[in-house]
Amino acid sequence: MDIRLVRGDITEQHVDAVVNAANSSLLGGGGVDGAIHRRGGPDILAECRELRASKYGRGLPTGRAVATTAGRLPARWVIHTVGPVHSATEDRTELLASCYRESLRVADELGARSVAFPAVSAGVYGWPMDDAARVAVRTVQETSTTVSEIRFVLFGDEAYAAFDRAVRGPDPKH
Ligand code: ADP
Repeated sequence: MDIRLVRGDITEQHVDAVVNAANSSLLGGGGVDGAIHRRGGPDILAECRELRASKYGRGLPTGRAVATTAGRLPARWVIHTVGPVHSATEDRTELLASCYRESLRVADELGARSVAFPAVSAGVYGWPMDDAARVAVRTVQETSTTVSEIRFVLFGDEAYAAFDRAVRGPDPKH
């Protein structure tokens, strides 16, 4: 499996599947979620509403993932996952790791070979970027999957630098 880091906008990625940092309502929000629905058009939201009605009446649980088609995005599918809100008092790392594992499991089911991830939970949900990056990189490295390219698409220099450090691993001089 190849891990690539890209600075940019996840809605512009030509990959089989893009992962959305959704919220449990599946009905849209800000950040990546807003960008995906804006650029992808109304078909994605229509499928999300159907999933809500048929399977996730109480919302998609945190740490889980579900796929829709990708509307007008240059991808085939959107995999919606719900990251945990960061907490100072409770360790929710396992839930964040689960987002990456479950998204890759759904990608495998779809037969997706290339998958683009944003920094799940590192925006509105408040996860410190360095830790979010370490969890993301470690989890995809430890997951067995038929996906051959994982592309982390980072919005901004801080996110890119954090993922770059996570991919390189701890600095041996420190
Ligand atoms: P969450 O609610 O899970 O924290 P957000 O969407 O608020 O999700 O943010 C997750 C990360 O995605 C943040 O680092 C944010 O800067 C970044 N982001 C926002 N828009 C985009 C985009 N279009 N492409 C890639 N990353 C984005």
